[in-house]
Amino acid sequence: MNITIIGTGYVGLVSGTCFAETGITVTCVDVDQKKIDNLNQGIIPIYEPGLTPMVQKNMEKGRLFFSTSLKDSIAEADAVFIAVGTPPDEDGSADLQYVLGVAREIGKHSDHYMVIVTKSTVPIGTAEKVKAAIQDELDKRKQDIPFDVASNPEFLKEGAAIDDFLKPDRVVIGTESERAQKVMKKLYKPFLMNNHPVIFMDIPSAEMTKYAANSMLATKISFMNDIANLCEIVGADVNNVRRGIGSDTRIGHKFIYPGTGYGGSCFPKDVQALVKTSEQNGHPLEILKSVELVNNRQKSVLYRKMMTHFNGNLKGKKIAIWGLSFKPNTDDMREAPALVIIDKLLKEGAEVVAYDPVAMEECHHKIGDSIGYAKDQYEALIDADALVVVTEWNEFKVPNFRVMEKLLKNKLIFDGRNIYDIEELIENEYTYYSIGRKAIS
Ligand code: NAD
Repeated sequence: MNITIIGTGYVGLVSGTCFAETGITVTCVDVDQKKIDNLNQGIIPIYEPGLTPMVQKNMEKGRLFFSTSLKDSIAEADAVFIAVGTPPDEDGSADLQYVLGVAREIGKHSDHYMVIVTKSTVPIGTAEKVKAAIQDELDKRKQDIPFDVASNPEFLKEGAAIDDFLKPDRVVIGTESERAQKVMKKLYKPFLMNNHPVIFMDIPSAEMTKYAANSMLATKISFMNDIANLCEIVGADVNNVRRGIGSDTRIGHKFIYPGTGYGGSCFPKDVQALVKTSEQNGHPLEILKSVELVNNRQKSVLYRKMMTHFNGNLKGKKIAIWGLSFKPNTDDMREAPALVIIDKLLKEGAEVVAYDPVAMEECHHKIGDSIGYAKDQYEALIDADALVVVTEWNEFKVPNFRVMEKLLKNKLIFDGRNIYDIEELIENEYTYYSIGRKAIS
């Protein structure tokens, strides 16, 4: 089989590479010439564990190609996946200009039957718009070329993207014709053979499934953050509460860890987009509005604790930050809580020095030299008035507290991910603030 993936970002590059891994011939297309030039030299634009060798291997095997030409790349395609970005519009709804732009390009160049699959996260009804855009271009060319549209939302998680793609909990596919379903079944045959559930449904349900899944996960996070804040007030320990409720199999242990709020390129924009869809359809999802409100508040939770500790005066304080990416194992800083915290600290006149195992370049790209960047996690601590842990990278979990106390000006930690044991910090005589647990001093 032969497929084209349009948009070579996190989703397009990982999906394309993983499809190539199953033996399919894949061309990944992007408008970003530099990205494609780099990929053609085996240089991968994102940090994703295991991706580089897999890209290189499939390029060597002649199954994975990179191009800027949509026209050439679809010449022999059985299916074309649209995996371009769908950023939030000014009003919070998903901006479909890139998706529909690609659809029009496909309509301009299509010369045989293909299934046009939306992999980007798009609002309900988008497949219809994609279909209309392609048909419009075909009509302009006075061409009667058959095609089908399908929806195949992507559920991969950055940081574990390859495993998520190759061993998915489920694959969701929305189709409206048997011919399209046959093509999609063939593409996903290796997954069906390995007993990964491939769930076929109608297109609007597939489009809705993606938003409902992300919104449910965001709801779990905001719920737990709100519970954590209440725990602090009433004297409960959220870690105990988490273990207590997570053991109920109906609730489960995943996504109930309190923290500094969710970030990333998906949850914030997808929750916003679903809120917008609900409003546009006269059924506002009040629950999701609260999820957003709680999340925005939570991104400042560590800042508020710092302000209280330092009696409202952070001017001249040197703050060390461990972790910049919105979660571990990725360099993605889109909507990262660290950006909110840094912004607030700088506005208060504090000096910030940060360390992250992989996201420092991305951070520099976003906020330049407004903060300092340390060589390693310990260097960031030199003469710092406090350490703030924002992202729970593994290497931060068992630090050398004795070394740290020699570097820090104060033995003071604000832990946004509850990665340290309270007993451990008491033993080492630190002042320690975390989320949903008592502060110790
Ligand atoms: P991204 O911003 O990393 O990549 C998008 C790519 O599309 C960019 O490289 C851009 O240059 C390219 N592009 C834009 N217009 C184009 C055009 N006309 N032709 C060719 N290429 C074009 O985005 P992403 O994170 O990969 O997300 C893509 C979609 O997948 C979004 O809808 C997102 O919500 C969804 N999604 C993302 C994730 C994730 O973890 N990142 C997970 C599931 C779903």
